[in-house]
Amino acid sequence: MSEILNSIKSKYQALGIREDVYREGEAVLSKLEARFREIDSVAEYNQLKVLEAFRKNQVSEACLLGSTGYGYGDLGRDTLEAVYADIFHTEDALVRPQITCGTHALALALMSNLRPGDELLSPVGKPYDTLEEVIGIRPSNGSLKEYGISYAQVDLLSDGGFDYDGIKKAINEKTKLVTIQRSKGYQTRPTLSVGRIGELIAFIKNIKPDVICMVDNCYGEFVETMEPSDVGADMIVGSLIKNPGGGLAPIGGYIAGTKECVENAAFRLTSPGLGKEVGASLGILQSFYQGLFLAPTVTANALKTALFAAALYEPYGFFVIPNSTESRHDIIQAITLGSEERIIAFCEGIQAASPIDSHVVPEPWEMPGYDSKVIMAAGAFVSGSSIELSADAPIKEPYAVYFQGGLTFAHAKFGILNSLQRLKEKNLI
Ligand SMILES: *Cc1c(COP(=O)(O)O)cnc(C)c1O
Repeated sequence: MSEILNSIKSKYQALGIREDVYREGEAVLSKLEARFREIDSVAEYNQLKVLEAFRKNQVSEACLLGSTGYGYGDLGRDTLEAVYADIFHTEDALVRPQITCGTHALALALMSNLRPGDELLSPVGKPYDTLEEVIGIRPSNGSLKEYGISYAQVDLLSDGGFDYDGIKKAINEKTKLVTIQRSKGYQTRPTLSVGRIGELIAFIKNIKPDVICMVDNCYGEFVETMEPSDVGADMIVGSLIKNPGGGLAPIGGYIAGTKECVENAAFRLTSPGLGKEVGASLGILQSFYQGLFLAPTVTANALKTALFAAALYEPYGFFVIPNSTESRHDIIQAITLGSEERIIAFCEGIQAASPIDSHVVPEPWEMPGYDSKVIMAAGAFVSGSSIELSADAPIKEPYAVYFQGGLTFAHAKFGILNSLQRLKEKNLI
């Protein structure tokens, strides 16, 4: 064994990873080489795509500076939006620190493009939890429902396929906007590939050509070489503290799409008449640009992390979604550990491996909006960032932990090994 490998092994040991756990990790990794190469190829393609957009729009040093006050004529902000539009092949984009999170971006896209009397349709089942209150599935102040916007939903078939008959029946003269969630989020349904999203959009547009097709793109950006906007989506929406922020953006969301959709969103975000013209970027633009530049490789690291964990835990008989051989369309990995003790040990291992708050021990707690206790491991530079290595789990059947992120694979590998180490130390596997 070469000197460097011996040094690495002893460093793992110094950090508390037993030799057998380290060896298990190496054995698993040696089988993933081909998959890792595939992930690197996607990252390489996307890196070039991002760079191409930077060059085309002549991103300059001046773009990295910010504006204050009203933010009129903010060169960096306007150029960044043009860069996003080029990467996603859309007419326009809204990329702002004033969009506070992914839910806000989605709510903004919906509320600005729907009018009283319109109907919103989800043809892929229940949307992400936080959207239930936006839509009014769970009653909430200011929901779409309060403004007279109705909601229809068609669930996926039991095999994960689209219920084309059901969707056809659900589309009516009121249907104005269709929302398609790419990632499974914290459900057990499969994540949709860009190809499948394209098929669904084509089917819907064939029935009603003028319906707006929006895709919740959270956790999906740069996982494939194409994005939903390349296959017919009128609008794609996401959070900058997930994939496209590259771990550097400290806040923000984006909406990329047709000129009309983006303009509607801008008029709602700021004010009718003002739209995109206002909104100071303050000092945030460098992190947006640099994070976007890093996003393809950061997303690749998160994908490798998820794949490594699936392959490491699978042999123990734990149900992992996706498994280590399926193709991947987002960065979320679910592992059904089957007991509260295991979930806690797993999260302790991740937390202890974090660059921030490694000394903190996570505990299950009653979180607003959840019907059970939840445990979260997150030692992140950006609070709540889920492109950084993070894990969370509701303390209820089937005792599954969901984790995602990993800015560097070397760090995330240690985090995953540390979770296994913790489970072994506690005699839980
Ligand atoms: C994270 C996420 C959201 C919401 O984003 P927040 O930033 O947490 O508000 C919406 N949809 C999906 C699929 C997500 O993964």
